[in-house]
Amino acid sequence: MKKIGLLSILLSVYALLPGANKDITHLKNIRYYPGEAYTRVVLDLSAPLTIKEKVLPGDPIDRLYFDLEPCDFAKEFPTEKKKRITVKSGYLQQIRLAMNKKNSVRVVFDFDKIGKYTMFYLTSPFRVVFDIFQEDKKTAPAPTLQPVDSSYSIVRQLGLGVRTIVIDPGHGGKDPGTENLSLNLSEKEITLDIALQLKSLFRETPGLTVILTREQDQYLALEERTAIANSNKADLFISIHVNSAPRKSAHGIESYYLNITNDPWAMEVAALENKVNGKSIGEMSDIVEQIVKHAQVSESKVFTEHIQASLVNRLLRKYKSTQDLGVKKAPFFVLAGADMPSSLVEVAFLSNAAEGKCLRSPAYRGAIADGLYSGILEYIETLNKK
Ligand SMILES: [Zn+2]
Repeated sequence: MKKIGLLSILLSVYALLPGANKDITHLKNIRYYPGEAYTRVVLDLSAPLTIKEKVLPGDPIDRLYFDLEPCDFAKEFPTEKKKRITVKSGYLQQIRLAMNKKNSVRVVFDFDKIGKYTMFYLTSPFRVVFDIFQEDKKTAPAPTLQPVDSSYSIVRQLGLGVRTIVIDPGHGGKDPGTENLSLNLSEKEITLDIALQLKSLFRETPGLTVILTREQDQYLALEERTAIANSNKADLFISIHVNSAPRKSAHGIESYYLNITNDPWAMEVAALENKVNGKSIGEMSDIVEQIVKHAQVSESKVFTEHIQASLVNRLLRKYKSTQDLGVKKAPFFVLAGADMPSSLVEVAFLSNAAEGKCLRSPAYRGAIADGLYSGILEYIETLNKK
């Protein structure tokens, strides 16, 4: 049996988060998304704060705790979660919360065994995300300790095939995404329709399980979407979106993988999808770097290239004005913490009159689903060839 060692844990011992101030931050809620081999825990906070990360010595290590300071429980914090939350997701047994001293909230994770964990935060509203993974064949070589680029080969070296694909229709419920009021069309309905069509195309592909993060008009936080992929041990994650630009003539298809960028347009697109302003993205470079460090950057790039090429080719067959805007990188929070190659595709511009009209047509949406389908299959084939 492999023991968990300190080295397999990512230690960011003392994280002073940007914007942390001396006022007391309130812990508003704690949410968790358990899976057999993975659990995401999210703390909803009123403002940024300091987190002290501690590992209790022991062999094996079975407890991690974090002190949030200065922090207390918000009035609305659910009473039933105040002391002990039983998780029992196979290895993470429970989460405990306590205020052992004034203005300090301790969060304790009790587990049987973990492989690695990561911590990052998201903004608007401010929340801290913990991803806790069980040791398994994917994490055994401790990819998080290797240079980012080596993750390219991990999927291939280990001969890991693709069995489960998670498709994420962007937005939903109270979040319509971008809208074209004159066409009475919103991003959330387009992405859902494309995702449902894409799922039904996979019915003809035996051996693949396809899961949608939502199958109806329903709100999901960005961090819930990746959590669904991780807890289902998905091998691929694709998030579907529709673009918009102040320049009405802008049109075409662009696909993204998670990385830092200097490209002002890419930052603007990410800011819009992340629901923060462009300036904050720049200010958040530290956290973005932390997120990217753990991402399967190179493999996601290859996956994204297949998606983009296939989608462009499929649409060009019938829609000659289709424009290939290329594969780009940007810090999309919806891709943060994805434990598998992941991609975000902006299938067309709803702000463009011609593409907006196309997006109304079931045939056009069907062609997009078809292009995405072929792109995913082509990528899977390259893995099988090794
Ligand atoms: Zn979107």
